Amino acid sequence: MARFGMVIDSAKCVGCMDCVVACKTENGVPEGFNRDWIEYEVQGKYPSLHMEIRSERCNHCNNPPCVYCCPTGASHVHDLGGVVLITHNVCIGCKACIASCPYDARFIHSDGYADKCTFCIHRVEKGLDPACVSVCPTRCMSFGDLEDPNSEVTRLLQSRNHHALMPEAGTKPCILYLV
Ligand code: SF4
Ligand code: SF4
Repeated sequence: MARFGMVIDSAKCVGCMDCVVACKTENGVPEGFNRDWIEYEVQGKYPSLHMEIRSERCNHCNNPPCVYCCPTGASHVHDLGGVVLITHNVCIGCKACIASCPYDARFIHSDGYADKCTFCIHRVEKGLDPACVSVCPTRCMSFGDLEDPNSEVTRLLQSRNHHALMPEAGTKPCILYLV
């Protein structure tokens, strides 16, 4: 069974925020909220400093606390690729999922339901990449099936060192950053 994920080469990211703008436009994300964002992290010790620029979003975790804690079943794992989604008309806006997510990936939409990245499932169903991936001018993001030994994401993970965000949280993220 497919397990969708993203592999991001943060060394290629220039922080241009095209991914952020593309997501807002594609998904009609209301003003003041974001489904994806750019994080800057300085690593190392002076004078050997390195800055990692990361495009971040919901990690579509393999062990998602946001799904386990949802009292209505609105937060769920979709059959297609294990993507974590929210059924808006079943969500009561209780914010339990927001409290449980270690990545601060969710917000309450102005219409009252929890919202976040969907991996652009409406595009993926048509064979397209998520909007953020499709516009990146440096091609630093790849989307695909982490279970397929022949996919680009698997090939990248096999050829480069990589890390996930907050592995200690035990959520098993499906977004991996190449180092
Ligand atoms: Fe849930 Fe947060 Fe993981 Fe996304 S990143 S699946 S919202 S715990
Ligand atoms: Fe579930 Fe909605 Fe409550 Fe989140 S805010 S836990 S999706 S009912």
